[in-house]
Amino acid sequence: MTQAFDIVVVGAGMVGAALATGLGQNGFRVALVDKQTAPRYDPEAPPDIRVSALSAGSERYLQQLGAWPEIMALRATVYRRLAVWDETRHPLSALIPRKPTEVVFDATLLAASHLGHIVENRITQQALWQCAANQPSVTLMPGTGVTALNNGDDRATVTLENGDTLSCQLVIGADGGQSRLRELAGIGVTRDQYAQQAMVISARYGGPVEDITWQAFHPSGPRAFLPLHSAGPAHPGESWASLVWYDSPEELARLKALDNEALILAIQRGFPDDLPRLTHIDTRASFPIARQHAKHYHNGRVVLVGDAAHTINPLAGQGVNLGFQDAACLQTMIREAHRAGGDLAHPLWLARYEQQRRPANRRMMLAMDAFYHLFSNRIPPVHLLRNLGLGAARALPFARNRVARYAMGIDEELPAMLKQITARLPGLKQL
Ligand SMILES: Cc1cc2nc3c(=O)[nH]c(=O)nc-3n(C[C@H](O)[C@H](O)[C@H](O)COP(=O)(O)OP(=O)(O)OC[C@H]3O[C@@H](n4cnc5c(N)ncnc54)[C@H](O)[C@@H]3O)c2cc1C
Repeated sequence: MTQAFDIVVVGAGMVGAALATGLGQNGFRVALVDKQTAPRYDPEAPPDIRVSALSAGSERYLQQLGAWPEIMALRATVYRRLAVWDETRHPLSALIPRKPTEVVFDATLLAASHLGHIVENRITQQALWQCAANQPSVTLMPGTGVTALNNGDDRATVTLENGDTLSCQLVIGADGGQSRLRELAGIGVTRDQYAQQAMVISARYGGPVEDITWQAFHPSGPRAFLPLHSAGPAHPGESWASLVWYDSPEELARLKALDNEALILAIQRGFPDDLPRLTHIDTRASFPIARQHAKHYHNGRVVLVGDAAHTINPLAGQGVNLGFQDAACLQTMIREAHRAGGDLAHPLWLARYEQQRRPANRRMMLAMDAFYHLFSNRIPPVHLLRNLGLGAARALPFARNRVARYAMGIDEELPAMLKQITARLPGLKQL
């Protein structure tokens, strides 16, 4: 069976579902296809192992789509402070207190009510599926992947695993880092695998829900502690947290093989003393991390968004926030193409989308790489440099706060001076 739409969105992850909702609100006839079945939130179940720190900018975008109240009604944890410090050991470590290299970003000092929310991916996705389903012009097609593409001159045709074909003007690839659509459209990527991997641990700790997230930088990789919601009456006085431990694949394989008690002990030794004590580990999973950028964001009638276009080091939790910015930008271009009375896949508008998003995504990739290289080594001058950097961040609250407001999505623009500096950094053009 062949069905006709204006737009087919392949991949109903957080980014694809958001974009389909926005396009549906603009009145486009959209098919939203995903190989997975609908996400299902169970309030009694432990949290999803995949959580994301959603910035204030993402919150505004999700508000516009109508998904934010739904997310808040399900489950989300606000954070108002973010503590960052360098944990590299050196011969003088015992003599120097940690405080000089600790920087705390506090919403009140940034003139904001909060820095962001930690939300389980399943919850964001479910809220967005609901919003997409509420749009009369959006058709959800879960449980079937894309197998073939005909990227024709006049229309594109997408073939699904169930044998159905969908014909449309524009196909949007939102099917993640391993995008099949990107491959079918013949769009290549540049890719660098990092030496580190990430292990995510879903755990309970003794104590109330916190409004601070912690990130300690070790030469082997960062370690982050993200507080989640209360564990409820079944575990009085306890709360859930998501821990992320970046390290070599060998070290993570060793940690992953430990039983729960031994892993709790390893975490106690490996994380700072002032973090809450863990009481129980629910799940653990490790993820390879890579910096990957599509060589083009569009080809013919296909355009890419989110992880299908770029994946970045998750150490500062920016991946989906960038994906939402792609989605908002592409929606504007599609609306403009429609207003101009032309083809929704007109190269003029797709090129404008890429012109806007590629430099912004590249800038964030470069910033994450700079962090990665600066903090993932033990060379004494580099160690000195980063401690000077953290010291400067403490000493120059104005500059620090402007950058932090941008990174948290409170401000939409990086200060002009910093934009000029990042634009001149070597290597930016190759990404
Ligand atoms: C350890 C870790 C921690 C992270 N923490 C954060 C964070 O704190 N903040 C943040 O902003 N980001 C974070 N990220 C990044 C974030 O998870 C991703 O950027 C985000 O999930 C990308 O969303 P997406 O919708 O583009 O792709 P995905 O989430 O990958 O969704 C792709 C969708 O496409 C579907 N699909 C795949 N193939 C097909 C096919 N052939 N046909 C049909 N459907 C298909 C999949 O089922 C899926 O639903 C983290 C990533 C990792 C690994």
